[in-house]
Amino acid sequence: MLSEIQSNEPANELFFSIGDEPALSRDEAVALINLPDDRVDELLLRAGALRKKYKGDRVGIHLLTNVRSGNCSQNCAYCAQSCRSSADIETYRWVAEDKLYQDNSFVHDNHLSMHCMGLSGMKFSDEEIEKLAERIRVMKAEGTHLCCSIGFLTEKQALMLKEAGLDRINHNLNSSRSYYPNICTTHTYEQRVENIHMLQRLGFEICSGGIIGMGESREDVVDMLLDLREINPEALPINFLIPIPGTPLADTDTSALTPAYCLKVLCLARLMVPKADIRCAAGREIYFKGREKELLTVVNSIFASGYLTADGQGISDTLQMITDAGFTYEIESD
Ligand code: SF4
Repeated sequence: MLSEIQSNEPANELFFSIGDEPALSRDEAVALINLPDDRVDELLLRAGALRKKYKGDRVGIHLLTNVRSGNCSQNCAYCAQSCRSSADIETYRWVAEDKLYQDNSFVHDNHLSMHCMGLSGMKFSDEEIEKLAERIRVMKAEGTHLCCSIGFLTEKQALMLKEAGLDRINHNLNSSRSYYPNICTTHTYEQRVENIHMLQRLGFEICSGGIIGMGESREDVVDMLLDLREINPEALPINFLIPIPGTPLADTDTSALTPAYCLKVLCLARLMVPKADIRCAAGREIYFKGREKELLTVVNSIFASGYLTADGQGISDTLQMITDAGFTYEIESD
């Protein structure tokens, strides 16, 4: 059992004692996240083998458009768009249609994997959902693969978006069940889990992951991954906290987010949900600068540089980085 393996035991014991389809116990996963940093290479080897088995050398690139920004009623401590935040951000109810469609064409023309759209807020009226559905219909005509990060939908609203052609919905767990009340009190972890199950029942692909570095313990990270394993999402994004001035987490100490620790978290995600698209989302440029090759050994999905305002330079830098690291980028859009 991995949990019984001491940190000074040989690598072979650790990595050949688990099967091709690992179902790590909680204790085993905790043992892995606590491996000494000088054994990360061993973990990378094991996670890399699964990445290669299920994803080959491909890297999927996603582009994010902020469709609705700011003024959110929820109090997620990390978020600049929350009512609790005084961060200096641009706020608007609908991004200009030109910008949305330009971003969609950018995804199409550059053969990116997914056009992701983020909407701040937790509840939406049917009229608002119909407006979003109209835009989705226009974008789907280009053949792009579309994902929305959107709050709690009613079943009727989810079906409206499904019928418009929306492929995937992002709804993160963000942290563990027990740590969640430390970062948000205006909705519950359970509501998030129920929402994801409802969307799965309706046939949506699910993108669900979390944020690392909000003060949670390593056991919290393992517990979140155990819940994500049960959900079995198509995509599992891991964000590494970027403390934003004006949010309650502005002064969070992120010194524990060393490249070795961040890699351990991503390796664990790969070991626990091996077939998912494991994405290194926010924080990639900060915590993995210069270590992109190691990163892509484990993850097969990233955002194009620039996130909300991608430009030509951003995408060409991203493609160059992928090629330099010895990988190829995925072409999904028609
Ligand atoms: S619900 Fe979303 S937009 Fe609103 S505060 Fe939380 S993370 Fe931010």
